[in-house]
Amino acid sequence: MSPISDISVIIVGGGPVGLTAAHAFSQLGIDFTLLERRDTIAEDVGASIVLWPHGMRIMAQLGLLDQLLSIGTELLSGAYQTKNGKIFLKTKSPQLCKTNHGIYPQCFARADLISVLFNTLPPSAKSKIHTSKAVTSISLLDAASGGGVKVLCSDNTSHTATFIIGADGIHSIVRKTILESLSPPPPPPPPPPPSNPTTSSSSSSKPPIPSPTKPQLLKTRYSLLWFSLPRTTLLTSIPATSAFEVHSKDLTLQLLANDKSNVQFCFIYQLLPSDYDPSKRYTEKDIEQIIASPKVAALPLGQSGLTVKDVWPLRQKFGMTPLEEGVLEPEWSYKNQMVVVGDAAHKVTPTTGQGLNMGLLDVVSLANHVSELVASTSNKDMFLSGLEEAFRKYREERIDSVREEAKRCGLVTRIAGWRDWRFKFFDRVVMPIPGVDVLLVNKVNSPSMAKCLVFRGIKVKREPFEGGLEWKEKMPLLEKGERDEKGKDSGEEST
Ligand SMILES: Cc1cc2nc3c(=O)[nH]c(=O)nc-3n(C[C@H](O)[C@H](O)[C@H](O)COP(=O)(O)OP(=O)(O)OC[C@H]3O[C@@H](n4cnc5c(N)ncnc54)[C@H](O)[C@@H]3O)c2cc1C
Repeated sequence: MSPISDISVIIVGGGPVGLTAAHAFSQLGIDFTLLERRDTIAEDVGASIVLWPHGMRIMAQLGLLDQLLSIGTELLSGAYQTKNGKIFLKTKSPQLCKTNHGIYPQCFARADLISVLFNTLPPSAKSKIHTSKAVTSISLLDAASGGGVKVLCSDNTSHTATFIIGADGIHSIVRKTILESLSPPPPPPPPPPPSNPTTSSSSSSKPPIPSPTKPQLLKTRYSLLWFSLPRTTLLTSIPATSAFEVHSKDLTLQLLANDKSNVQFCFIYQLLPSDYDPSKRYTEKDIEQIIASPKVAALPLGQSGLTVKDVWPLRQKFGMTPLEEGVLEPEWSYKNQMVVVGDAAHKVTPTTGQGLNMGLLDVVSLANHVSELVASTSNKDMFLSGLEEAFRKYREERIDSVREEAKRCGLVTRIAGWRDWRFKFFDRVVMPIPGVDVLLVNKVNSPSMAKCLVFRGIKVKREPFEGGLEWKEKMPLLEKGERDEKGKDSGEEST
């Protein structure tokens, strides 16, 4: 338990990032309450999630490796093809993950991943997770009366805590409250000065208007239509361990699978028209129309000889979403009261499967700074006076790699969708040159993954995976005979 007993955290959002924060805080002994607006935690939205070696390493440190391996499908290979079905690149990226980091990327059904994240929490932590609790407003409590935050939920209940973590995704109420608090509405204009007929009013005599802190706005240039299919006899000709992509002008298809739950996932990215209205919500009719359009209907599924049109009648779940892109600026926190993680802080296109992996790193960084502050302070006042700085250190630690990753994700989406001739040239001419794919993984992707942060306060028996490239930060190891958070001693074999 925390040496300071009266510190508590409200985590808003029980998505994968919020649940990972629940694991971390539970293991680090920091009291939390998690509020999720949905009625169930593991809602099956039918999409997939790929965890890359760095994401899997974080999960392994939390003790979830065995459970995740039992529901994941190793991604062993990947191929890019044209809409005529011609393969122009067999990417070495999955094998290089194994060579460089000791594990293949793992593909999960999103609902299964979330179920594991929830089910593996100890009962004491599960009892702190409350569903059907949409946070509708956040009040910042007066420092004079002890500070902290109070949230009001849709069921008219309220909860108070020392601080709040927004893991509430792209439409984050915590992010909105941070931005409003950083740039409050300008004060009402002062009363006009007494009229003086000898001087005319000039702009220099007006009181300065405080310049509002300008958040970087999200842009939305692509949409994503996804559907899942049972891996029936029709589809078993597509290996579950292979990812396929069809690249074409402003239209991309991705195919992934999970053989443990026998499901194939299909993702269709499209460039949005320039008059796209961000308030638009896609209907089933919109989706049917897109699928029926000849260029989408004819997209090939790997080398199976099947097209989107052939398999659409087999669909299980489907949906469509705009793909927002952007990194929250200028801050990720407000005073010592609110901070955001995951999609609430940064949103990337899912082409390279990095969004959640990035959110996991946020949790590691924030949990490290908060738990180290707890450990170094002996009372709540000391803790509160260091918390704003802890939030700042968290953002500083993450911001450069988040910006880089966001840029990379946006670039890869545009390369795959041949945004203009230069992107197409790079995709069709440069990428297939032998060695280019390997060079990019070895010089860009793998070094970035190797910089993976680890929980400095959670000890493990050993590094879960090691490859040719050293992890920049090593996990803290249990001493002989020491017991880990889950009560296993350091002599046990399984993680
Ligand atoms: C089709 C698709 C495929 C993807 N594939 C990958 C992939 O392969 N790899 C990868 O790393 N990333 C992938 N991503 C991105 C990944 O899904 C996100 O980055 C990740 O889900 C972010 O997690 P989060 O917990 O921050 O937000 P979310 O998953 O959006 O969860 C936020 C949670 O907060 C809850 N919430 C929101 N508002 C409130 C409120 N006011 N009160 C209470 N609760 C609230 C929501 O109900 C939700 O449960 C993909 C995304 C998509 C759309």
